[in-house]
Amino acid sequence: MNFKPFEKKIWLSSPTMHGDEQKWVNDAFEKNWITTAGENVNEVEKLVSDYIGCNYAVALSCGTSALHLAVKLAGEKLYGMPKPNEGTLQGRKVFCSDMTFDATVNPIAYENGEAVFIDTEYDTWNMDPVALEKAFELYPDVKLVVLVHLYGTPAKLDEILAVCKKHGALLIEDAAESFGATYKGKQTGTFGIGNVISFNGNKIITGSSGGMFLTDNKEDADKARKWSTQSRENAPWYQHEEIGYNYRMSNIIAGIVRGQISYLDEHIAQKKAIYERYKEGFKGLPVSMNPYDEKNSVPNFWLSCLIIDEDAMCKQVRSGTESLYIHEKGKSCPSEILDVLSKYNAEGRPIWKPMHKQPIYRLNPFVTADGNGRARTNAYIDGSCTDVGEDIFRRGLCLPSDNKMMPEEQDIIIQIIRGCFA
Ligand SMILES: *Cc1c(COP(=O)(O)O)cnc(C)c1O
Repeated sequence: MNFKPFEKKIWLSSPTMHGDEQKWVNDAFEKNWITTAGENVNEVEKLVSDYIGCNYAVALSCGTSALHLAVKLAGEKLYGMPKPNEGTLQGRKVFCSDMTFDATVNPIAYENGEAVFIDTEYDTWNMDPVALEKAFELYPDVKLVVLVHLYGTPAKLDEILAVCKKHGALLIEDAAESFGATYKGKQTGTFGIGNVISFNGNKIITGSSGGMFLTDNKEDADKARKWSTQSRENAPWYQHEEIGYNYRMSNIIAGIVRGQISYLDEHIAQKKAIYERYKEGFKGLPVSMNPYDEKNSVPNFWLSCLIIDEDAMCKQVRSGTESLYIHEKGKSCPSEILDVLSKYNAEGRPIWKPMHKQPIYRLNPFVTADGNGRARTNAYIDGSCTDVGEDIFRRGLCLPSDNKMMPEEQDIIIQIIRGCFA
């Protein structure tokens, strides 16, 4: 291969601005609503709830704060008001997607709960409903499930909702990565009792930061709004009856989001074209793209990923912070591909490392489809294959998926990756 490195870096996923964002930010300046209230905040709540098809959207500082309030609301519903110095999930187990970003999990810890990680399935790379059922057999008292739609691909919602229903558990959807994706024609973020999207800088649309709590329940929306503004009571002075947070979205951020919303569908179309182009371009290579349920779901294609066939994996070892590989003819591995991409000034990323493999959560339970989970992982500590999440982490990677990447640039990336298998 004799390509030169890209002069302008090809990003994994970077913000794409259109001009309207600046207009609404300026509007906030002109009206001097430089605070966590104003027209932009009200308007984005309306635009998002209309788009999603939920009754209420509460604009917050980020997806993580939205998840915190969602988890806290669910905890209060299930277990009542916590004692002083305790969280609403005090000592309780919560089932949670394993292959995700840690922002999904941390809010469970903020409320003093214990996440039990549920292994992943190969069809959508999301929570395995079979493993979830096993988890309820092992821990029948659990009443809350936090489900992620990874990389914008809807999870097996029918199956997961059926398991939740059977065991009387509530569902929270972390749709931070999947805004605009649908399952059987319905938006992700409408299936749980309280759900979350994010406007972080690398998401499908962005406000630089920001997030939202989505619900159909007015009381929950009001409560989230109150908690997010330091739990001020309706009084002439600062009156407080419960713990509060400073989690409300800024009217400046909301201006950016307001300008972005009408471009969501365009971004999804661009991301889909990128996914299809990779799929076509990798024909004949021993790899496949991140899969989805073509019959029942439409992803937002936020990130395109690939997974390498087992017998085309060259030798690769990873410690906590580093990785080594040995190139073999006709084979490759994620570490090699990421290395080569970065030499050409293109950004890929490893698959999100499963939570049960994270040092901070190493003592939390982990359940696989055969019900073994943590025990099985330890039995296979020699590095031979263990669970689904770890397998996808080992063989998969996220590809440059920026919607400003030109088709010619993407073709070069495809050629670079083909070269890795030479
Ligand atoms: C980005 C992300 C979040 C957190 O959103 P922020 O707005 O960055 O706080 C939560 N969960 C997942 C799966 C994410 O990708």
